Amino acid sequence: MKLIFSGIIIPVSTIDWYGRSVSVVFFNGCNFRCLYCSNNRFIKVANQRLEPLYRGGDAIAIEDIEKQVHDSRMFISAVVFSGGEPTAHPQELEHLARFAKGQGLLVGIETNGYYSERLAGLIEKKLVDKMFLDIKAPLDNAEQYRMITGGVGDAAERVKKTLDLEDIDIEVRTTIFRSFADVPAIASSLSGRNLTYVIQQGRPEYAPDEKLKKEKPFTREELMDLARNMSFLRDVRIRTREKGEERIV
Ligand code: SF4
Repeated sequence: MKLIFSGIIIPVSTIDWYGRSVSVVFFNGCNFRCLYCSNNRFIKVANQRLEPLYRGGDAIAIEDIEKQVHDSRMFISAVVFSGGEPTAHPQELEHLARFAKGQGLLVGIETNGYYSERLAGLIEKKLVDKMFLDIKAPLDNAEQYRMITGGVGDAAERVKKTLDLEDIDIEVRTTIFRSFADVPAIASSLSGRNLTYVIQQGRPEYAPDEKLKKEKPFTREELMDLARNMSFLRDVRIRTREKGEERIV
């Protein structure tokens, strides 16, 4: 079977799944156009064109991805599929998740949560062990969700379905900026759930939105203060440029 898709891979990473050394496979392409998408950074593709990472890149034979994962096998315990949005490529994602499982590796998926039925299918087939779910705004605020994701009107309701999926270890992540940092409201909707919540320091300098680019990023101290107010959750962390991931609650 020779599937082709656009993607890049980091053979060994220690920052994408806390406590684990993993390979990260980035799928290109995303159904959202978030105001702050850091994947807006340009990459050079084989024919020397420049393209935003989320829109497209080199086509890579899926066997090459498998070979890179196989070659990293001694140093990793899992593969994380990231993007872009990995579930936007359901066939390729399932194929590679099955391959990783066959290598005895755990599988993590970083997702915007839009394609809940695709994620449910992978969970049912036992092809995913951990989901890193990006929640961008309070799930009862469809308008804010639509604004942040570049006009995806049903994003909030579909992400809510993903959050409600069962039989999967979930880490929820929110990247915050001063213009939309309603993490207390997001956190209260997570109350009573058995999950980890990570507040990520947004990087305005990488945002495609010109207004956002001029913002001052949240400081580590500010993030710590926000996290301390969420002691009603089981496990709250912050992730900053300075110190990486730190557990606060
Ligand atoms: S969901 Fe992620 S990859 Fe897609 S546009 Fe938003 S930030 Fe970028």
